[in-house]
Amino acid sequence: MRLFSDVPGRVLAIFAHPDDAEIAAGGTLASWASQGAEVRLVLCTLGDKGSRADDSPEAVALRRSHEASNAAARLGVGSLITLGYPDGEVTNESSIRRRIVGQIREFEPEVVICPDPTTVYFAGGYYNHRDHREVGWAALDSAFPAARLPKYFPEEGRPHSVGLCLLSGTLFPDVLVDISGGLRAKIEAVAEHSSQLEYGVEWLGTALSRRAEDVAKGSGLKYGECFRLIQGGG
Ligand SMILES: [Zn+2]
Repeated sequence: MRLFSDVPGRVLAIFAHPDDAEIAAGGTLASWASQGAEVRLVLCTLGDKGSRADDSPEAVALRRSHEASNAAARLGVGSLITLGYPDGEVTNESSIRRRIVGQIREFEPEVVICPDPTTVYFAGGYYNHRDHREVGWAALDSAFPAARLPKYFPEEGRPHSVGLCLLSGTLFPDVLVDISGGLRAKIEAVAEHSSQLEYGVEWLGTALSRRAEDVAKGSGLKYGECFRLIQGGG
């Protein structure tokens, strides 16, 4: 895996649920933000089904939106955009691509970070959430080629060419980002999602640190996050 050491001027993170970006790429976003990158996070769903308690979906969504705002602040996210789809009801179709293209053209990112939509089964028998896959496809289809071609969604502003996409939650990682400067913020950001913490903050800190160490093993770095790099297309 090669080291990805560039720090983009603007990075757009596009994820499904309120805690996804923090878990998948929180160290990268925090590291880059601390080095001057402007970070925007587009959150596609409300997270309204992310609870086994008796709370109403509306109450869950409200709590999770507060958690998302606090977590974004921990990472140094400059703007948090919520598209507001109910959990399980986000689909890669024209209306969400139009909204993502609008975000890309307005924010003009060099780098987009989103889930790898080709990941269906992780090791250990874990089945990837449908929302992650749908949002990954929608983000990629919006970046390549829709956002850069003027005849796609002309009402959404002037074309913008995204330089590259980094896919998280991938089975085919090929680049590694040094998150030694961002791991602390990542742990704090994930911990803000208290509605989702089953084993407490201490366990969380240990688990995220170990994961970051494992990812960086053999690279010479202490802590890393890995991605699959997609450079253009469409
Ligand atoms: Zn998720």
